[in-house]
Amino acid sequence: MGISVFDEVNIFFDAAVDRLRLPDGIREMLRLPWRELQVQIPVRMDDGHIKVFQGFRVQHNGARGPYKGGIRYHPKAGLEEVRALASLMTWKTALVDLPYGGAKGAITVDPGQLSFNELNRLTRRYTQNIEHLIGPNRDIPAPDLGTNAQTMAWMMDAYGQAHGHSPAVVTGKPVEMGGSLGRQAATGRGVANILAEAAQDSRLDIQGERVVIQGFGNVGYWAAKLIADGGFLIIGVSGVDGGVYNPKGLDIDNLAEHQRVTGGVTGFTEAKTITNQELLLLECDILIPAAIDNVITENNASFIKAPLILEAANHPVTPVADRILTERGVTVLPDILVNAGGVIVSYFEWTQNLQQFRWTENTVNDELKKKILQAYHEVRARALSDGVTHREAAFDIGVGRVAQAVTLRGFV
Ligand code: NAD
Repeated sequence: MGISVFDEVNIFFDAAVDRLRLPDGIREMLRLPWRELQVQIPVRMDDGHIKVFQGFRVQHNGARGPYKGGIRYHPKAGLEEVRALASLMTWKTALVDLPYGGAKGAITVDPGQLSFNELNRLTRRYTQNIEHLIGPNRDIPAPDLGTNAQTMAWMMDAYGQAHGHSPAVVTGKPVEMGGSLGRQAATGRGVANILAEAAQDSRLDIQGERVVIQGFGNVGYWAAKLIADGGFLIIGVSGVDGGVYNPKGLDIDNLAEHQRVTGGVTGFTEAKTITNQELLLLECDILIPAAIDNVITENNASFIKAPLILEAANHPVTPVADRILTERGVTVLPDILVNAGGVIVSYFEWTQNLQQFRWTENTVNDELKKKILQAYHEVRARALSDGVTHREAAFDIGVGRVAQAVTLRGFV
């Protein structure tokens, strides 16, 4: 058996601790989650029988503020993966300088196999079981893979039954329930903001630069749409069922409509159907993994043709693949920077909820752009000054800030 995703993330973390020359006690304090909860979630299914699911909430580090992180519904979700994603949240919130720590939650379930009512009951029971750990000043969940604004509305309602109306307990809610304008598109918009800036820095002629995107869910769809609006050509897109390719460019709105009707992107008449592996190896200028983790590995890293990769998904590139790509001169902009748009606008949503006030969508989008590009420029400047990769620079900034917070708090 190979090493776990958490071990993999810690390879990036440990290298940052070495570069920052932090003492071993701090290393251990920052590497391990501060608190973990595993819960049993019994659900009465529509046909009357009881099914028991496993749920998790890992609070990785709270030195810089309340814990923050999404909830994932996925058949392969497990504790090690949740730990890895929680630790990435710690470094991400620190890197983009939000007053949060890092957390993540999950239920091992294929949400596509449950009815709407079963999902409602599952989410409520999960919320009741982790209710003592979360709260507007403690830990604030949000959507991730397999969950959405509806899931957050159910969580808010279940939490509110015990604590009174508390919209700030979750972010990514429907706008009608106190969600922020612009939250749904935020992660994809942040990806598009960074790509436009990186293209300018690399003096790329944006018009017609070929982009390939793996994943056409919340992040992949919005990234594709906003990047295409910016003048890039989206030539390949995939979902779990496979991908589609058209060297002349895909019409993103038509593709989204095709997915809405058929449930996937394959079979889209304006393009050739390809596999996910073929998609990753397409001849293109920019590759954006926006689906799941561990998709660029030692098995395919040598064959990736894109000179620039933007990690919109969490941990799509393994450490070994990362080394191979770096040696080949491929620039990888890391997940903790590229997909931070979601947590940035989640932060805006939380502050709006606490103040009982709503920002306009333009304000949200403008502030998002400012915040994510500030982090991008800090990462770029550090990479250049220290002679390290963008990932190394991003981890050095994030880990350094959390180390400073635990020191200032005088924990030990
Ligand atoms: P989603 O559930 O809306 O969409 C996931 C997409 O990935 C779908 O198109 C699905 O078909 C595809 N997919 C699933 N399994 C796949 C596989 N084995 N191969 C290829 N494609 C596959 O999820 P999302 O919210 O868009 O999240 C995507 C990624 O972005 C995840 O890694 C998530 O952690 C990360 N992320 C999401 C947010 C957010 O705000 N939603 C924020 C930061 C990071």
